[in-house]
Amino acid sequence: MTGFAALDALDFPAFEPGSVWLVGAGPGAPALLSLLGYHALQQANVIVYDALVAETLLALAPAATERVYAGKRGGKPSEKQADITLKLIEWARAGRRVLRLKGGDPMMFGRGAEEALALAARGIPFRIVPGITAGVGGLAYAGIPVTSRDTNHAVIFLTGHDETGDIPASVDWGAVATAAPVIVMYMAAKHLVSIAGKLIAAGRSPDDALTVICHATLPEQYAVDATLGSAEAIVGAIQTPAIVVLGPVGPLRQELAWRVGRLAENPLG
Ligand code: SAH
Repeated sequence: MTGFAALDALDFPAFEPGSVWLVGAGPGAPALLSLLGYHALQQANVIVYDALVAETLLALAPAATERVYAGKRGGKPSEKQADITLKLIEWARAGRRVLRLKGGDPMMFGRGAEEALALAARGIPFRIVPGITAGVGGLAYAGIPVTSRDTNHAVIFLTGHDETGDIPASVDWGAVATAAPVIVMYMAAKHLVSIAGKLIAAGRSPDDALTVICHATLPEQYAVDATLGSAEAIVGAIQTPAIVVLGPVGPLRQELAWRVGRLAENPLG
């Protein structure tokens, strides 16, 4: 029960004691959380949250709800993934309602699958609540469509580094470079210049538009434009988190950047 009749009519599923919900928090602006995610925040006994989850979002949970930080960002001391997973299991077994709150969508480059597999292996009931991923919602906030009929009928989502921190070895750069007109890259700021070099070496045009959106959906959001061949020139202007968009959709923001000039008025998003 939320106290709002129209919300109660949605008939939210019960957050059962002893279960874990993996919830996507959205790309940053707290208002982009789903209604089911909001319901989960009201019901949880403990919230285990990542670095990119907004304080204002956590504030939507009742004051008594336990909040546990499980973030790992840029060199700061971090809990190992295995420890986080073990805690989820331990607390679920203790009969708590465990909310695992992850940035964006939990299953997009967010290790949600690893955590869900560990829960499934132990027979712990879980639910996956999707969130708006940075590679779609972050672009929307910058006035960049992920697809448009005139530009692309395919899109690739790529991560710029793997669990070792290096460019992922499993990516077939030769195939990726030319397979789709648009490539959306997560975690690509650190290795941007070498990724650009790999794509050009694999046949991608150095003249292709490269757009980087920093702090997407947040009040401090800004975007930087370059070409694939001039990536090095903008590296110093990139702040993380940043999402990188390669291809002809980026320049559409010159016409579609609806958010410019409205940031200060609307800090919630
Ligand atoms: N599960 C998340 C992604 C986790 S990986 C999702 O679905 O969005 C973390 C990466 O996401 C960052 O390195 C960055 O590339 C991207 N990202 C997350 N939030 C962002 C934001 N507000 N602005 C720009 N990029 C963001």
